[in-house]
Amino acid sequence: MEKTFAIIKPDAVERNLIGKILERIESNGFKIAAMKKAQLTPAIAKGFYYVHKERPFFGSLTESMCSGPVVLLVLEKENAIPAWRELMGATNPEDAAAGTIRKDFAVNIEKNSTHGSDSAENAAFEMSYFFSETEILS
Ligand code: GDP
Repeated sequence: MEKTFAIIKPDAVERNLIGKILERIESNGFKIAAMKKAQLTPAIAKGFYYVHKERPFFGSLTESMCSGPVVLLVLEKENAIPAWRELMGATNPEDAAAGTIRKDFAVNIEKNSTHGSDSAENAAFEMSYFFSETEILS
């Protein structure tokens, strides 16, 4: 079993899409190993996205991640990292495959409703950034 880290972003929380997104997660065979609602601060968002600090959209991205509450998740499944990225769809909803979360719910390339770790190394960092080991229940 592999674990990955996911976020339901402020644009989706604001539009009451938490339940619809969790339903897709569970119906696609993921177990929710950890979950909490949180309000990110600029410092927390910048630390989370530090790998993107040189990108032109860094300021706008971190600001949008603080625009309202998020839902933080640890998801568990075989090959959870690629499986969750496939269920989310491409970063830009215009490029996302039919039936993916971003195709169906994202507002635009930035407000794209969900986050998912892109490697085992980043998943480990991202889970530990928001959850202690005792909060992750396999
Ligand atoms: P992801 O792994 O699919 O989330 O994509 P990236 O790691 O490349 O980017 C992280 C996040 O930055 C994305 O989920 C978007 O919210 C945002 N983002 C990515 N590319 C762009 C862009 O070209 N413009 C803006 N405004 N935001 C972007």
